[in-house]
Amino acid sequence: MNHIVCSVVVPMYNEEEVIGETYRRLKEVMDETGEAYELIFVNDGSRDRSAEIITELALKDKNIRLIDLSRNFGHQIAVTAGLDYAQGQAVVIIDADLQDPPEVIPRMLEKWREGYDVVYGKRLKREGETFFKKFTAYLFYRILAALTDGNIPKDTGDFRLIDRKVCDVMKNMNEKNRFLRGMINWVGFRQTAVEYIREERWAGETKYPLKKMLKLASDGILSFSYKPLKLATYMGFLLSVSGFLYLIYVLYQKLFTDKTITGWASIIAVNLVFNGITLLILGILGEYVGRIYEEVKNRPLYIVKKVVGFEFEKDERENG
Ligand code: UDP
Ligand code: MG
Repeated sequence: MNHIVCSVVVPMYNEEEVIGETYRRLKEVMDETGEAYELIFVNDGSRDRSAEIITELALKDKNIRLIDLSRNFGHQIAVTAGLDYAQGQAVVIIDADLQDPPEVIPRMLEKWREGYDVVYGKRLKREGETFFKKFTAYLFYRILAALTDGNIPKDTGDFRLIDRKVCDVMKNMNEKNRFLRGMINWVGFRQTAVEYIREERWAGETKYPLKKMLKLASDGILSFSYKPLKLATYMGFLLSVSGFLYLIYVLYQKLFTDKTITGWASIIAVNLVFNGITLLILGILGEYVGRIYEEVKNRPLYIVKKVVGFEFEKDERENG
């Protein structure tokens, strides 16, 4: 039988500087809850000693588990691997860099006991992050809301608690380009927020360069809305109406005035604009087609190199 109450999933990518401290703080908080728990560290292809550090700690602490992926699959996939292996009745997702304070977990557990199935952390404030990051994040959540009818909670990251039943549903959602906070929202059940102040990274630097941020943002938008595709329709409509009006104007000039028509510059300008829009829309189409291509290939989401600290064999023996 499964006795674990709370699993904590910690994705890590080159976090050797913080991971020891993260473990210490998580352990302190989780010990205090007095419940059986497990700390699942997912090593997302780190090239530093993150995995070794956890393996060493696991020798002394039976609550530690390690899932070692074969390469860097990205944050969302690493979390997914953790969810797949988690055994707890509640599962908490938390960043490795202590930006999400572990001390918020007991508050999440409290809400969970009140009967909520998803408790997400809502950032009241973000400390020590660049203006650029905060601004783009702000903008992203507004655009996402506009394109998805505003269902996905704003200003929340992946720091959250989900109930076993939500976790089980997630296991059946095999989409390749994952935007977990949107998927968890889609699942439904009773959801609520706890507010917290997002702290500065404890050590090391962000593992989310602009490129990964853009990928996450486009997954968020393109996996949850097909409104960008409608852009072609709207633009096409708008442009043909204005083209038609302009045509009438030109005809009028030709027939009823004696102005000579000087048109070269305007032709070039109109051409550029139209070609630009056509390419933009082709590009958007391409984004969707590429995602369909990934789905069709249907490769596994991640590859596990090695696990440490799980008790599968023992469990199987017990079950017969
Ligand atoms: N992370 C990961 N794989 C990646 C990038 C990041 O597992 O390819 C982890 C990282 O170790 C951290 C979490 O995802 O635990 C969030 O990353 P980070 O703190 O660098 O992002 P930021 O807070 O700057 O947005
Ligand atoms: Mg961070």
